Amino acid sequence: MAWRGFRGPLGLPWLLPPPRARAALPGRLSSSCSQAGLGPVPPWLLRSGAFVGGRWLEGQAAFPVRDPATGLELSRVADCGAAQAQEAVRAAYEAGAAWGRASAKERGALLRKWHDLMIENKDSLARIITAENGKPLKEAQGEILYSASFLEWFAEEARRVYGDIIPSSAKDRRILVLKQPVGVATIITPWNFPSAMITRKVGAALAAGCTVVVKPAEDTPLSALALAELANRAGIPAGVYNVIPCSRQQAAAVGEVLCTDPLVSKISFTGSTATGKILLRHAAGTVKRVSMELGGHAPFIVFDSADLDKAVTGALMSKYRNSGQTCVCTNRFLVQKGIHDAFVEKFAEAMKRELFIGNGFDEGTTQGPLINEKAVEKIEKHIHDAVSQGASIIAGGKRHSYGKNFFEPTLLSNVTTSMLCAQEETFGPLAPLIKFDTEEEALAIANSANVGLAGYFYSQDPAQIWRVAEQLEVGMVGINEGIVSAVECPFGGVKQSGLGREGSKYGIDEYLEIKYVCFGGLQ
Ligand code: ADP
Repeated sequence: MAWRGFRGPLGLPWLLPPPRARAALPGRLSSSCSQAGLGPVPPWLLRSGAFVGGRWLEGQAAFPVRDPATGLELSRVADCGAAQAQEAVRAAYEAGAAWGRASAKERGALLRKWHDLMIENKDSLARIITAENGKPLKEAQGEILYSASFLEWFAEEARRVYGDIIPSSAKDRRILVLKQPVGVATIITPWNFPSAMITRKVGAALAAGCTVVVKPAEDTPLSALALAELANRAGIPAGVYNVIPCSRQQAAAVGEVLCTDPLVSKISFTGSTATGKILLRHAAGTVKRVSMELGGHAPFIVFDSADLDKAVTGALMSKYRNSGQTCVCTNRFLVQKGIHDAFVEKFAEAMKRELFIGNGFDEGTTQGPLINEKAVEKIEKHIHDAVSQGASIIAGGKRHSYGKNFFEPTLLSNVTTSMLCAQEETFGPLAPLIKFDTEEEALAIANSANVGLAGYFYSQDPAQIWRVAEQLEVGMVGINEGIVSAVECPFGGVKQSGLGREGSKYGIDEYLEIKYVCFGGLQ
């Protein structure tokens, strides 16, 4: 494939992806083809080394980071191992004492500066996300604002870590409660929100007075490293924010250090339930505090009383943003029989009208690539299994010829609870529709999952709204809303979807210890 003779700031040909031929396709392509490119990202924001103790560690083994839309190599990034993980933990530990003792106002001011630098560089940061993750540039821009909002929020929350004075039953005592940072927090993040999954944790940790070591996902380390550059420029002291990227091959060894090193007090992970369980087992050995934001299997229930058009709009947003690759994306639609056929028809029409496949840099693209081939294989497996058991393909159903990681947005009807797509998370652009009869039946299906992150339903019956909201076994409920995440809302799940909450006024508690102080002898 021919390049247009342009080499990027790292000496890599990645500022202008090659023009792609637009094929005549059954799915729809976005209006302009890939001429836009990564654009003017300043070279200093494109880092490739590990960031430990305020220094960039270059010159070690490296692994390739690829654009999932084109398969082209974007960069080669430091491939850290157990030794670098230990070094980073030590650096975080050593920086911890001073950072923990800084006033909340000082910590908040630095977080605020970091936020401001993110906003100043928001277009470049968004372009980095689109390049390494594939999501449409508009969504990436939205992610940067969302991501920065956690630094801003926790900059403010730092000053609201209140203790308590509890009335004592003994006259000669006073009972005080102090809140103190837990210590070094290690943070392992996924690729689907390469920036926001970091700041949602790191903002809270730093505000509380903790120092951190971040291991970003192997697919998307560039956003984490760009954040390190900005943290450094904001004046966050050396050792407070450390980043150790690594390849998938090194993830287990690095993860083990981050979860077992005695200098680490807290682990915060976002990713699959399977990996979360491994980390929990590691954490047990030294009884570390843990926050886990794991997989979901979000139901989206459309009751007969729903406003059909609003339900269709919510369904599209909830299912297809980030090409279905978020843990709160709807994974199964449950549609009551009275409204079922009309919903299927309108949903299919809206998909045709609103969804455009293409390179994330192309204007008008709403559906970028899936992150990798493994993700494509999973959706294929789910569709094959469903169709072999009697499901009907209403739209999509196969890979898109735009590129090997592209998959057509797919709608399946006649889905039953015995099918794989109704039992586990697809993490892709597949909408399976299950028809149900009664509210009890819908709740039984929705709650049959062993995970419970987000759940959505559309109804205009107030009594039903309360009944269903209270009975859904999930951590977050969208009532007549398809997207619920925001900085001020507690994000997290029940059952095997995880432990703890992020964002909101609760998020900082994950990084604080309660210390009870009994002040006696006060006769
Ligand atoms: P996915 O399958 O979508 O990549 P994972 O849960 O495997 O989801 O990955 C989320 C994060 O967990 C990534 O940063 C990945 O590198 C990391 N990871 C995967 N396996 C391990 C492991 N055994 N120990 C520590 N981290 C891991």
